[in-house]
Amino acid sequence: TYLRYRGVALTYTAGMGTDCLFCRIVAGEIPATMVRETPTTLAFRDINPKAPVHVLVIPKEHYADVATLAQGDPALAGEVLATAAAVAEDEGLLGDGFRLMFNTGTYGGQEVFHAHAHLLGGAPLGPMLA
Ligand code: AMP
Repeated sequence: TYLRYRGVALTYTAGMGTDCLFCRIVAGEIPATMVRETPTTLAFRDINPKAPVHVLVIPKEHYADVATLAQGDPALAGEVLATAAAVAEDEGLLGDGFRLMFNTGTYGGQEVFHAHAHLLGGAPLGPMLA
């Protein structure tokens, strides 16, 4: 099925849309603290922040994970990265640095199956695998 939101055609795979938490945030059905929007991407604060800055960056179009996104629409994957970089700049993270990560699948600890980058910063984060 297709939904048009702010002029952007959103493609939902079967069963997605109303069932997908982040699609519902895109559709405005669930509130989120937005920090940036582009025609194809959205950035909002994580509801359970793990660092002083913890922003999620998503494609508005539904892709289950970053592998599906990158293989299905590499340009859109690049737009997610560009939005993350712009948010990092807005949040003042470029000087001291930040972490950008995509949890993917069961072993990756992914809980929401709509591709999203975690942008983390604002304090030293330590080694990734502690
Ligand atoms: P992941 O484990 O990579 O799938 O991460 C999912 C992230 O989504 C977690 O960090 C949650 O805290 C976050 N999250 C879940 N529900 C919401 C929500 N309604 N608004 C913002 N972030 C959320």
